[in-house]
Amino acid sequence: MKKIPVGILGATGMVGQNYIALLAGHPWFKVNYVAASPRSAGKRYGELTAGRWLLAKACDPSVSGLLVEDANDLSRAAAAAARGDLAFVFSALEMGKAEILALEDSYAAAGIPVVSNASANRWTDDVPMLIAEVNPSHTDIIPSQQAARGWKKGFIVVKPNCSIQSYMTPVWALLEAGYDVKRMVVTTMQAVSGAGYPGVASLDIVDNVVPYIGGEEEKSELEPLKILGSVENGRIRKADAPLISAHCNRVSVINGHTAAVSLEFGAKKAGIEEVKRIWSEFSALPQQLKLPMAPEQPIIVRDEANRPQPNKDRDADKGMAVSVGRLRACPVFDLRFVGLSHNTVRGAAGGGILNAELLKAKGYLG
Ligand code: NAP
Repeated sequence: MKKIPVGILGATGMVGQNYIALLAGHPWFKVNYVAASPRSAGKRYGELTAGRWLLAKACDPSVSGLLVEDANDLSRAAAAAARGDLAFVFSALEMGKAEILALEDSYAAAGIPVVSNASANRWTDDVPMLIAEVNPSHTDIIPSQQAARGWKKGFIVVKPNCSIQSYMTPVWALLEAGYDVKRMVVTTMQAVSGAGYPGVASLDIVDNVVPYIGGEEEKSELEPLKILGSVENGRIRKADAPLISAHCNRVSVINGHTAAVSLEFGAKKAGIEEVKRIWSEFSALPQQLKLPMAPEQPIIVRDEANRPQPNKDRDADKGMAVSVGRLRACPVFDLRFVGLSHNTVRGAAGGGILNAELLKAKGYLG
């Protein structure tokens, strides 16, 4: 099968580099186009990232030689698309919200679908915010998104904030099994890589916990409601529950966001063994479709008293599985547990690739 040529906007950054590493040898997609800020444009990708490559795995040699484009220069991307050298882009840009909104729109309007990691479009009400195992049906909104904007081939999908799947995949499995979750308190312990590179100053984070990440608590409380919402009349109508209270902390961990969760069920309450069974048996569309990036088991239940831990569990199943543990009764709500997932893989580039695979399997790409 001829591979689909893909581009990465923000290719030089933390998430962009993860895209390049994860797409090396991908069975369907091939990185063919890399773009970043005007500062980086015109240089070879390998030269540009030589002193700032952040990952243990070396840069894919087939990408090192690519010329870095200015992500703001749509004419270059449009020309590549016209030649058949660019089918869609992953957006991993770090810019102002208005600039990202305008730029992602301009790519989609030019017929280049955008699979985004940026937060700018997460609350655009006809843009699906996908966790492939949780709300794959939200891709159904794409034809109305295109019709409303007069776009023929282009569209935009986003993925949620990098910590959400560590608690929403387990919660979704319970909802799908017929248990309502009314209220939750979520305390996240988020890795420094979540802030990009160079991120938080070492003097602020070594030997420390920073109990504030700008905008993160609002995202942690509200994004799940859009993910659990329904597609109605060309809009995503957000769900009314669960009510979430979030505390978000930056901790001295390189990769892996941890969430300590207490939750309250509705009238029907699941016991601990039932919850473990639901999580262990949970499987969704990406698993049924055998998408290349999908974890075989999306939720891994750890029975050890001291797991999950970031440096032991973040890489589970290519860094794509959510590990859960410490499941026990809660004296205030009903249950409590700890969820963990890799923020730059499952929470960023890996999650974006899985979304693109889902779109391809549904016939929206390529
Ligand atoms: P980053 O390391 O700071 O990288 C930012 C990228 O954006 C670089 O490629 C940079 O290019 C490019 N850029 C900056 N200003 C630009 C401009 N004016 N025009 C065009 N390109 C520009 O950020 P990151 O951590 O990779 O995050 C990227 C995006 O993913 C952000 O929207 C972030 O919120 C989101 N995200 C991050 C994570 C995570 O765990 N880190 C998780 C989920 C989502 P230069 O190298 O040329 O400056």
